[in-house]
Amino acid sequence: MSDAKGIRILVVEDERPMRRFLSTTLAAREFVVVEAENLREARIAATAHPPEIILLDLGLPDGDGLDFTRELREWSRIPLIVLSARGREEDKVAALDAGADDYLTKPFGVNELMARIRVALRHGAAQEGGNVSEVLEIGPLRLDRVRREVLISGTLVTLTPIEYRLLLLLAHNAGRVLTHRQILKEVWGPNYVHQIHTLRVFMALLRRKVEPDPSRPRLLLTEMGVGYRMRDLWE
Ligand code: CA
Repeated sequence: MSDAKGIRILVVEDERPMRRFLSTTLAAREFVVVEAENLREARIAATAHPPEIILLDLGLPDGDGLDFTRELREWSRIPLIVLSARGREEDKVAALDAGADDYLTKPFGVNELMARIRVALRHGAAQEGGNVSEVLEIGPLRLDRVRREVLISGTLVTLTPIEYRLLLLLAHNAGRVLTHRQILKEVWGPNYVHQIHTLRVFMALLRRKVEPDPSRPRLLLTEMGVGYRMRDLWE
């Protein structure tokens, strides 16, 4: 990842070997690494000189990383990736709903970590209004936001307003997992966050229109028990 030069990254991790491993790995890729061993240090580091991205362990000696995530989201959109040994679906959902951009279960590979960091940084830049383009192109998908036009491999697809908003939301967040709750809130509204069945129905309808083989989705991926993610890496 050669474009990381000078990017400030805050690593919040209490286990020394893991923290050293992350620091060494990231420094070798020219990130500027700031380390924190606990929430107190993390709060100071995040406010004194805000980093451009944060890697956060959940189990910390003076509290839970989820509390830090919620606090941070009250004042900042800094991309944040949770790195945790907690691998249950409900832990992922809780972290994403608290405002984390992504979630990696330990142990993970360096390549996967770098890919997630890249997605989170790109999304952070897009949120700041840097590159919200009129046309989104992701794999076979071409979405023209001005003409509200969707093409799959060059073929025009007709979507209902809900299907369009669902696709647009996932395309805006390509590469990131969105929880059922986040999707329902954005597309249907805050009173619908528990209507997971409705979401499943609409996702099935949308897949029938945009996936060559709806039973084996390649674009709109299911994250079991968590939510959905639009695939962003295409060979
Ligand atoms: Ca820990």
